Amino acid sequence: MRQSSRPLWAEIDLEAIERNYLEASRRAAPRTAIAAIKGDAYGHGAVAVARTLERHGAILWTGNVPEALAMREAGIKSKILLFGGYVPESVPELIAADLVPTIFDLAGARAAAKAGADIIPIYVKVDAGLGRLGVPIEDARETIRAIAKLEGLKIEGIYTHLPFGDLSGRDWALAKSKAFETLLDELAVDGIRPEVTQLWGSSGLLANMPDFCNAVCVGHVLFGLSPVTLEISPADAFRPAVKSIKARLIHVAHHAAGRDLAISGQYAFRNSAKVGVIPLGISDGMRRLVSGMSPYALVRGKRAPIIGTSLEHTVLDLADIDVPQVGEEVTLLGQANGEQVTLGDWSQWLGCSELDVVMGFSGRIDRHFTNPADDIWGSLR
Ligand SMILES: *Cc1c(COP(=O)(O)O)cnc(C)c1O
Repeated sequence: MRQSSRPLWAEIDLEAIERNYLEASRRAAPRTAIAAIKGDAYGHGAVAVARTLERHGAILWTGNVPEALAMREAGIKSKILLFGGYVPESVPELIAADLVPTIFDLAGARAAAKAGADIIPIYVKVDAGLGRLGVPIEDARETIRAIAKLEGLKIEGIYTHLPFGDLSGRDWALAKSKAFETLLDELAVDGIRPEVTQLWGSSGLLANMPDFCNAVCVGHVLFGLSPVTLEISPADAFRPAVKSIKARLIHVAHHAAGRDLAISGQYAFRNSAKVGVIPLGISDGMRRLVSGMSPYALVRGKRAPIIGTSLEHTVLDLADIDVPQVGEEVTLLGQANGEQVTLGDWSQWLGCSELDVVMGFSGRIDRHFTNPADDIWGSLR
């Protein structure tokens, strides 16, 4: 583990990710559970997560070329598929790097067909209604037939993506899934029967949606995050993978009552003020305080209100802490002495999803991995 001179770190529980993957696989059976680790494994560290899941033979899907290349460089042998993130001309390079491309138009398919002498496996993505990436469902039969005729390619998989968050979204996704089912039936009539078909992600798995495909592709639940409301399903069988975010006090100050301070511009101290500073700033994913919210961190298990933040620092009110010491541990997320701060708390304070909170804090904060597979020490950052 790298000892950081910047006392701010997150603890990532790799065993939780492993267990979550096994739970997703169990629920998905007899379908295959594919692991979505785009966005640097949803902010948890793509290489470490890939190593953990590789032990279980997981197929890995990511949406970022540099992250996929970093996984190959780190020696990850699993099949790595790309969701996207490149222009058609780059497809041959990706194939040369042993990555499987997703194709979403004929230009990409033609580029893939020119990539080499061998038969190249590709996946075709269909846009069944999300309106993002993919061959539009109306044109999909014709386009996929044209792709199937190109020499040097094998359509190994066809997939779509219909994520949802609430009951009306679930109805929408179910309706859209019907058109995808019809498409797969029509393609089968045309003699195109890919080895892998996939439609649902975490929301579909949690909501137990009817499925005619043979794979699901999950991201959220691997990390103990839920994309759906409780009325659809609790996700409590899945464990949060970010165990904690912690810092140390780098400064403690005492301000006499009535002193005219500029912390956060508007904060009125109750009495005299005892404040502490931690090295967590907006550059680390912290946000300026939203009025009406009262976020706090824990010091010795007691709540220390967060009263101001800047690019590199955050200020805590330590009124309730006896003789606070520079170097003391501050828990921003996780448990301390029986109290806890959850991702749910942060998502309220910042007015965003739990995933957004994790992603926000994932850029510059050092990761300490707990319970890693035996052989993964050393090469992790
Ligand atoms: C990200 C992604 C998934 C996984 O979604 P979750 O909701 O995080 O499980 C599945 N399929 C596609 C195409 C994706 O891009």
